[in-house]
Amino acid sequence: TQGARVTVVGLGPMGRAMANAYLDAGHEVTVWNRSTGKDDELVARGARRAAGIAEAVAASPLTVLSLIDVEAMYGTLGDTGLDGRVLVNLSSDVPEKARAAARWAEARGAAYLTGGVNVPPAGIGQEGSSIFISGPREVYEEHRAALDLLAATDYRGADPGHAQLYYQLNMILFWTAYTGWYQAVAVARANGLTAADILPYAGYTADTMRGFYTGGAPLIDADEHGGEHERLAMCAASVEHVLHTAADSGVDTGILAAHAALYRRGVEAGFGADSSSRLIRLLGNEAT
Ligand code: NDP
Repeated sequence: TQGARVTVVGLGPMGRAMANAYLDAGHEVTVWNRSTGKDDELVARGARRAAGIAEAVAASPLTVLSLIDVEAMYGTLGDTGLDGRVLVNLSSDVPEKARAAARWAEARGAAYLTGGVNVPPAGIGQEGSSIFISGPREVYEEHRAALDLLAATDYRGADPGHAQLYYQLNMILFWTAYTGWYQAVAVARANGLTAADILPYAGYTADTMRGFYTGGAPLIDADEHGGEHERLAMCAASVEHVLHTAADSGVDTGILAAHAALYRRGVEAGFGADSSSRLIRLLGNEAT
C-alpha cells in the first residue's frame, strides 16, 4: 500500500535491499543501523533516518530486522518499548534461538514473526524469490502483503522456530553440496584438471539429485529400505574408492573419511543388503 509505514533495522546488504524494495513500493521507510554511513543512499532516496533505535521502532507499526543473527536483536533493541509493535526478524539463526527471541519480544508486548530469507540481496523484490515465515498466523495474515513485497512468503506455521528449521534444512543440502563441489575441484586440480574441465559432469550430477530425492522420499517416509536397486554394501565400496582417490591425490581427506566411516558403520550394523537410505536411521540415532 502506498504510504504504509515500515522501519528497517540493520542495513547490511540484505537490510539495504529490503529498505530499497519498500521505497520502490512507495512506503514511508524509516531506517536505523548500529554504525553510521550505511543509510546514506537510502536517505538520498527518501528514507527517514531515525536518531535512535527507540525512534525507529516508534516510527512504524511494522519493524523488519535484518541483523547478523537473531541474538543481535537483544543488544540492538535493549529496553526500547515494544508494546503494540510488530517485529519481523528476518535474520538467520538456529530454531531454538528463534523461539527464545519470540518469547523475549512477546514478553515485551510485541507481536513477533521470524523468517529465513532464501535469496541473496539481489533477489529481494524479484519474481521467484521466497522467505520462510513462522509465528502467529493472524500476525502473518495481517502483515503478509508487506512481507510479500520482499519475497513471496512461505508460511511454515505458528512455531517461531519453524521458519529457521526449514531454512537450516535447505542449508544442510546447500553447504554439503557446495563443499562437495570444492572437494571434487581440489581432487581435479591435484590431477592437473580445472574446475571448467569437470563442470559439465558436475552440472549433470547436480541435475540428477532431484530425481534421487523425488524417488526416495515416499520410500523413506514409508520406512522401506529394501536394497533391490542399490545395496548399502555397494555404496560403501564406492565411498571407499572416493576416499582413496582423494588420498592418492594428496588432498585433505577429513570430510571424505567421515563420510566413508558412516557407510562402513552401516555395513557393520548389518544393513549391507539394504538401501543406503537405511543410513538415515543411523544418522538420526533412531532405533534400528
Ligand atoms: P551483514 O553482516 O552485512 O549485516 C549485519 C547487520 O547486523 C548490520 O546492520 C550490522 O551492524 C548488524 N550487526 C552485526 N553484528 C551485530 C551485533 N553483534 N549486534 C548488533 N548488530 C549487529 O549481513 P547481511 O545484510 O548480509 O545479512 C543479514 C541477515 O540476512 C543475516 O542473518 C543473513 O544470514 C541473512 N541472509 C543474508 C543473505 C546474503 O546473501 N547476504 C542471504 C540470505 C539470508 P553494523 O553495520 O553496525 O555492523
